[in-house]
Amino acid sequence: MADAAYDAVIIGAGHNGMALATYLAKSGWDVAVFEARGEEGGGLATEEVTRPGFLHNLHANYHTLVGVCPVYDDLNLYDHGVKYVQPPVQMGAVFGDGTALTIHTDVDKTCASLARFSQKDADTFRRLYEEAKGFLDLLIRTLMYSPPIPLLDITKALSIWRVQDKSEFLSVHLRQMSVNDFLNQHFENDRIKAMLAFHAAVGGYCTDRKGLAVSFPLLVGKIDNWHVSIGGSHNLAHALWEACAHSGGRIFLQHGVEEIIIESGRATGVRLNDGSVVTARNLVASSVDIEQTFLRLVRDGLPREFTEKVENCTHMDWSFFTVHLALREAPHYRAAEFDPEIDQAWVLNIGYESLEDLNDHWQRIRRGQIPEPRLNCAVNSLYDPMDAPDGRYTGLIRHFAPYDLATGGPEAWDELKDGFARRCIDKWAQYAPNLSAAIIDWTPHTPLDISRRMVNMVRGDWMGGIIALDNLLTERPFPELSQYRTPFQGLYMCGATQHPHGFITFAPAYNALQAIAEDFGLERWWR
Ligand SMILES: Cc1cc2nc3c(=O)[nH]c(=O)nc-3n(C[C@H](O)[C@H](O)[C@H](O)COP(=O)(O)OP(=O)(O)OC[C@H]3O[C@@H](n4cnc5c(N)ncnc54)[C@H](O)[C@@H]3O)c2cc1C
Repeated sequence: MADAAYDAVIIGAGHNGMALATYLAKSGWDVAVFEARGEEGGGLATEEVTRPGFLHNLHANYHTLVGVCPVYDDLNLYDHGVKYVQPPVQMGAVFGDGTALTIHTDVDKTCASLARFSQKDADTFRRLYEEAKGFLDLLIRTLMYSPPIPLLDITKALSIWRVQDKSEFLSVHLRQMSVNDFLNQHFENDRIKAMLAFHAAVGGYCTDRKGLAVSFPLLVGKIDNWHVSIGGSHNLAHALWEACAHSGGRIFLQHGVEEIIIESGRATGVRLNDGSVVTARNLVASSVDIEQTFLRLVRDGLPREFTEKVENCTHMDWSFFTVHLALREAPHYRAAEFDPEIDQAWVLNIGYESLEDLNDHWQRIRRGQIPEPRLNCAVNSLYDPMDAPDGRYTGLIRHFAPYDLATGGPEAWDELKDGFARRCIDKWAQYAPNLSAAIIDWTPHTPLDISRRMVNMVRGDWMGGIIALDNLLTERPFPELSQYRTPFQGLYMCGATQHPHGFITFAPAYNALQAIAEDFGLERWWR
C-alpha cells in the first residue's frame, strides 16, 4: 500500500485488536488495523475443513463471558450480527459404568444431577454457586475488566474485610491452593470433583497447579454461561469488522507488520511486509506475542534486562490436539438410559472420572508424551442450526496435549496426528456407539498446526502465556508490561499476553483502552 498516516495503528486483527480499534474510532480517532493473515478474527476462525457446509471452529469455540463483558453492548455487536445461544444443558460427563452427570443453566437441575452421585456435594455446589454468583459482578468488573492490581493488595483487602468470617469459599489461603486442593477440601465424590476440575481445565486452568484456586469460585460462578456463537465463532469477528468499519476504522488484511518504528524513544509508526511505512500520530498498539513485538518488530533501544524478561516469558505447558468431524447424526450415549439429558449436553467430558485422571494427563504432557485418550467434545449443531447442512451435525474433539513431543519434537505431530485422531474417535464411540457409523469425514489439527496458522500463538500457546499465579495480574507478562504501557512512549500492548489472559474475553483490549484514555485524555463514553 502507499505510505499513510493514522492516529492509531493496531497490530493484529484478532478480537482484541479489532475491539480496541473500534473503541478508538468511536472516540473520533482515525484508526487502522494491520493483519498478517488473509482473514480477520485471529482465534475466531470458522472453516469448512471437513466437507462443504460443515462449519468448524478451529480455535475458540466456547464464549464464556457473553452478558458480563461490557464490550458487546459498548460496540453494539448484536446490531452487527452477533447471535448466541446458551445451551440449557451446558455440559455433561459420561462414565464407564453407564452413568452420567449434567450441568444445566437451571441450577436446580444441576443439583438434582449431582445429588445422584452425592447429596452432600450437590448441596455444597449450590452454596458455592450462589456465593460465587453474588460476587460475580464485583469480581468480573474489578478483576477482569480493570487494569490489574497486585495480588498482595487483593489479599490485604480480603483480610481486612475478614473474608473468612463472611464467606465459606473465598479465603486468603486460596493463593496457596490448587483447584484440586480446593475440590478435595469442599467435595467428596470423585466424579463430581472430576467434572468441576474438567470445566476449569477446558478454560485453561491446570488443575494441579498451586495458586490457581484463586480463580476457581469465579469459574464456578459462570459455569452455566457458556455460549455457542450462531453461524460459527467467526461471526463475532465479522461483527467486529463491521462495527469497526461503521465507526470509520480500517482493517487491512495480508498486511503483516515487519517493524515498529521507534524514534527518540517513541513509537511513530510501522513498516509493513510490502515495505510501505504507516505513520502513527498518537500510538501503535500490539495485540501479538511479546517475543514478536519486542524481539523482532522493535529492532533496538531496549535495555538488556527487559529483553531477557521477554526471552524468559513462560508459555502454556500444554496445548490442544483437535479432531473436527462431519456427522450424519448426533452422538447417542449409552448413559442416556441413566440421564436422557446427556444426549443434549453441548460440552462433554469423556473419560475423566477422578482428579487423578487429570493429574495423570498433566504429568504425561509435561514429559512430552501423548496421553491415553480422555476427551473434551462438543456438538455445536445441537444448538446452532447454521453450522451443518440440514439434518447433519458437526463434532469437535479436543485433547489436552504437549506441543513438544519427547520423541521427535513438535514436527512429530505430522506423523502421529492421524493415528491419535483415530484413537480419540474410538474413545468417543465407546460411550456413543452410533458415532462410528455416523462419521462422514474428519480432520485433525495439532498443537504445531496452531502455531503454523497463528504465529503469535508461540509453541501452540493459545492463552498468550501460562496461566500460573506468577503470570497473572500485575505479574502478567511481567511487572514492567502489566499496565498495557511499554518502555516506549506511544507503544501499547492489547492482546492475550496481557491481564487477564487469552480466551475471548476482550479484557486485554478493554483494559488497554483505559490506559490509553488516561494518557490521551479521552472522554469516557463506554460502560
Ligand atoms: C485450539 C484452540 C482452542 C481455543 N478454544 C477457545 C475457546 O473455546 N474459547 C475461548 O474463549 N478461547 C479459546 N481459544 C483461545 C483464543 O482463540 C485466544 O485466546 C484469542 O484468540 C486471543 O485473542 P487475541 O485477539 O488476543 O489474539 P489472536 O486471536 O491470536 O489474534 C492476533 C492476530 O494477530 C495477527 N498477527 C500476528 N502477527 C502479526 C504481525 N506481525 N502483523 C500483523 N498481524 C499479525 C494474527 O494473524 C492474528 O490474526 C482457543 C485457542 C486455540 C488455539
